[in-house]
Amino acid sequence: MDHTPIGKVCSFCGVVGTSKSSFAGGLGALMCSHCVMKYYEIMSSPETKRELQRPWWNVMTDEEILATVPKITAVQEQLDDFLREWIKVVRSRGLTWADVGRVMGITRQAAWQRFRAYAE
Ligand SMILES: [Zn+2]
Repeated sequence: MDHTPIGKVCSFCGVVGTSKSSFAGGLGALMCSHCVMKYYEIMSSPETKRELQRPWWNVMTDEEILATVPKITAVQEQLDDFLREWIKVVRSRGLTWADVGRVMGITRQAAWQRFRAYAE
């Protein structure tokens, strides 16, 4: 599993990581150091925290709305990559396709078909 920030995408702002970036995260979602600080400040104040409760896309321009689409796609691809990497970890521990299927709510066969190319 790749632990470097290079090419990773912040799940909050969409910035792409470089060798100088720092990301926090887990379960495939990542947050760049800029967003960590930004959300720390927002969450530290009741007034700014309330701002998060409104639909933030209501204050975005059409161009900002459109510019968000490829960022969401990049995050989705990153999550898919993380899931495939995690399934490799699962399989490397000797857990079965039936185990994978059980926790995903799919059959053993469906789990194998979905991930076999990445984790065998
Ligand atoms: Zn960010």
